[in-house]
Amino acid sequence: MTAGTELRVDLHLHTTASDGVLTPAALIAAVADGGVGLCAVTDHDTIEGLPEAGAAADALGVRLVAGVELSTLWSGRTLHVLGLGIDPGSPDLSTLLALLGEARHARARAIAARLDRAGAPGGAILEHLRDLRIVTRTHFARELVARGHARDAGAAFSRWLARGQPGYAAAGWPELAPTIDAIRAAGGVAVLAHPLRYKLSAGQRRTLVKEFARLGGTGMEVVTGGQSPTQTETAVGLCLRAGLEGSQGSDCHDPSLPWQRPGRLAKLAPAIVPVWHRWQADLVAAPASTA
Ligand code: AMP
Ligand code: MN
Ligand code: MN
Ligand code: MN
Repeated sequence: MTAGTELRVDLHLHTTASDGVLTPAALIAAVADGGVGLCAVTDHDTIEGLPEAGAAADALGVRLVAGVELSTLWSGRTLHVLGLGIDPGSPDLSTLLALLGEARHARARAIAARLDRAGAPGGAILEHLRDLRIVTRTHFARELVARGHARDAGAAFSRWLARGQPGYAAAGWPELAPTIDAIRAAGGVAVLAHPLRYKLSAGQRRTLVKEFARLGGTGMEVVTGGQSPTQTETAVGLCLRAGLEGSQGSDCHDPSLPWQRPGRLAKLAPAIVPVWHRWQADLVAAPASTA
């Protein structure tokens, strides 16, 4: 970073360790290409992409924050919580990730059985996915498309995999409180991912962010990929009201899609404390010779 240059930040990115299309090394190359200086790889319920991402980040001069996107339940609904700045060696985190992997495998079997009953090749898809450590609905969606049961991933969700559709199966994710506890035990900060994407009333959403802060959450995503300016304004209000720090991330699964390009995000409102202040100090202040 040279003085006066804006630091580009993207703290929500996926790789092939979960449902992204790029390997960790290829993702970091795309991140560097997009001028991002500080990023977090946040795969669903796994940290297995981090060593490869870390090596690529070192080679390309990008600062990588160790991250994960955890699936969790709050009032019976699925929420996603980012753990940022975590110690990948943490035993508490390992225990939680083992539970999550199990929950994903159990749900994948239930999804397959339901798809079979509804006339789609669930069992064959499950067999095809059997070596994956982390099985997501995105993997099912891609296979449904490949086998001609939906025209694209979005259609696979709305026809088969979304809540209320024939291939939907509830998952036994851990509750929100122990999830936040495990992130903090691993030395990380908990950030509520894409708070406007959950089907909640405005009142329920305010309750959620308040509860999230009370349980030890540090921040929420204020700027996420594909969000309208009006939505960003709503998120800013929620964040300030709850006294949370703010994060930003593209939630990129495929950098070749224009609306998912790493680092192409609106600016965080100046009233909000950026959650990345704890990782950026030397990046911003460093003289050019040590950058
Ligand atoms: P899972 O965590 O296995 O339930 O899968 C959730 C993932 O599916 C999300 O992280 C998205 O990447 C993807 N997803 C959810 N809804 C849709 C949708 N309507 N169209 C495309 N992808 C979706
Ligand atoms: Mn995903
Ligand atoms: Mn998510
Ligand atoms: Mn995500």
